[in-house]
Amino acid sequence: PYEVLIVGGGPAGAAAAIYAARKGIRTGMVAERFGGQVNDTMEIANYPGIPETNGPAYAAQLEAHVRNYEVDIMNTQRVAELVPAAETGGLITVKLDNGGTLQSRTVILATGARWRNVNVPGEQEYKTKGVAYCPHCDGPLFKGKDVAVIGGGNSGVEAAIDLAGVVKHVTVLEFLPEMKADAVLVKKLKSLPNVTIHTNAQTTEITGAAGKVNGLKFKHRADGTDASVDLEGVFVQIGLVPNTEFLRTTVERSKFGEIVVDARGATNVPGVFAAGDCTTVPYKQIVVAAGAGSTAALSAFDYLIRTPAA
Ligand code: FAD
Repeated sequence: PYEVLIVGGGPAGAAAAIYAARKGIRTGMVAERFGGQVNDTMEIANYPGIPETNGPAYAAQLEAHVRNYEVDIMNTQRVAELVPAAETGGLITVKLDNGGTLQSRTVILATGARWRNVNVPGEQEYKTKGVAYCPHCDGPLFKGKDVAVIGGGNSGVEAAIDLAGVVKHVTVLEFLPEMKADAVLVKKLKSLPNVTIHTNAQTTEITGAAGKVNGLKFKHRADGTDASVDLEGVFVQIGLVPNTEFLRTTVERSKFGEIVVDARGATNVPGVFAAGDCTTVPYKQIVVAAGAGSTAALSAFDYLIRTPAA
């Protein structure tokens, strides 16, 4: 069995693996896709010490860094189930999709998240060609341009406020008759001169030409009339879904499906820790995930030296 088994090979899982292996403990890592979400981004320019890189290059660096250490890497393997130890200090079982099982005294869950899609024509076609999901990451690419934000919840309104300071104009579309974000955020948004808000508006299509977004079509739900806006970018902000479905009820999760962790990355199950976008940690960013991964690994090590093996 392993002493630490990490599930996930994104920034959180990679940082956890590096920290665990450097303690000289038996470390394993199962990942469906090494690198995680960063594989899907072109530019990364907010990781301290790396002024600029791209997603695939950064993912390759993560893997090379982990491979510098003795870590048993099981790439392209998916975890289907986690079975807690029968008693504290016992072995936790991780079952794989391929039927295999692994056992470990501690497990670090770092399975990340995925952005919820709006599922309209044009979204898939123009992903990374004007359709974006992360305002902190891609906002600066639309400097001086017109963009839309789909979603009037907290993340949508925060994104719109953030973007309004960078881009020329922001159109916000909320499906429901009312904005769902906190009143203070909505008030702030409404005070901005370069923002237009449409509530009760259903996005129907993201249009483009020559491989780039050039507009968005929507329907006013109250009277069924169609409308369109010319723009160069669309930020989809209708939720981030954590990859935690496989945990079912074994580990406590929030109403959004995020694994509930404390400041040390501990979950409610002894020996099970979690880090990164799959958890309740605020702000889903590479640097935050990597920091949380190192915290979880150090906490797992602390657990191992304090908890007698059952
Ligand atoms: P992830 O990167 O999501 O990694 C999760 C890992 O778990 C993957 O290896 C996945 O394959 C694996 N996994 C999931 N489920 C299972 C399972 N059941 N079994 C086994 N393995 C599993 N952040 C920035 O800081 N700067 C940026 O510029 C930036 N740009 C972004 C652009 C895009 C398009 C996207 C989508 C995100 C961007 N982000 C950016 C956010 C950043 O990518 C995430 O915050 C970060 O990757 C989270 O790291 P993580 O390790 O928690 O999860």
